[in-house]
Amino acid sequence: MLIDTHAHVNFAAFKDDAEETIKRALNDGVNMVLVGTQIDTSRQAVELANKFDQGVYAAIGVHPVHTYSQHLDEEESSFQTREEKFNSRDYRTFCQNPKVVGIGECGLDYFRLPEEMKHEAGNMNHEQIKQLQKNAFIEQIKLAKELNKTLIIHSRSSKGTDDACLDILEIMKHETPNTQQTLRFVLHSYTGSPEVAKMFVDLGAYVSFNGIITFDKTGNQEAVLKVVPDDKIVLETDCPYLTPAPHRGKRNEPLYVQFVAQKVAQVKNLSIEKISELTTKNAKQLFNLTLS
Ligand SMILES: [Zn+2]
Repeated sequence: MLIDTHAHVNFAAFKDDAEETIKRALNDGVNMVLVGTQIDTSRQAVELANKFDQGVYAAIGVHPVHTYSQHLDEEESSFQTREEKFNSRDYRTFCQNPKVVGIGECGLDYFRLPEEMKHEAGNMNHEQIKQLQKNAFIEQIKLAKELNKTLIIHSRSSKGTDDACLDILEIMKHETPNTQQTLRFVLHSYTGSPEVAKMFVDLGAYVSFNGIITFDKTGNQEAVLKVVPDDKIVLETDCPYLTPAPHRGKRNEPLYVQFVAQKVAQVKNLSIEKISELTTKNAKQLFNLTLS
């Protein structure tokens, strides 16, 4: 059994076959957490999770790139974001559903800051945009603490730096001075340095690995894996993005978390069975899951 701790089967890429995709994974022993990035995809994550008796959970939140509107065009995705202010009342309502195990994904993204941005409050510079992201992030940390949900952190720094990761670290230290034991949180799709990863691990972070580790030629993902203790490693796909080798170029899906597991097993020189057992146990602890 494997748990894909970060899947977006709730996204439009799966609009024609979301349920079939989930069933394909469940039939192969893969459970999953469906992760929202704004109000609509959060609602969709909860609705999809509700369609399955077991094995499918949801996380709800506002991704940093959705805290303002911009057009994003990247290798694997192109979309228009809509400005959304984190409205804790709506998200609090989602949390009444027992399938909702996490808050997020939320965090900071300095990689894709728009050159200049028109906001309802006037044009914003980079510092102001960063502050907008930080405010939404902090509100979501507070909600996770209050409702005892797991925090899913998106961290993407500007090219060649650890700037967003270091800001997140500072915020986490400030917001959780004495609750490091009780606030469960995971760094998802972490691409920062091993040194900063170690600082997060010292705060109690889980770190989630995905397809990047199967095609990263820089060696950074493997170096990060080496600083994460065995009991903090979890796996994800981040589908439909970041398809692992050998399926590069195809749409990613939860079933492919097995390729991430294989690579992690290889780097750690452990059997696939051992990695499956270890990461499943960790994921259950991370999300407080009681599945057998
Ligand atoms: Zn994601």
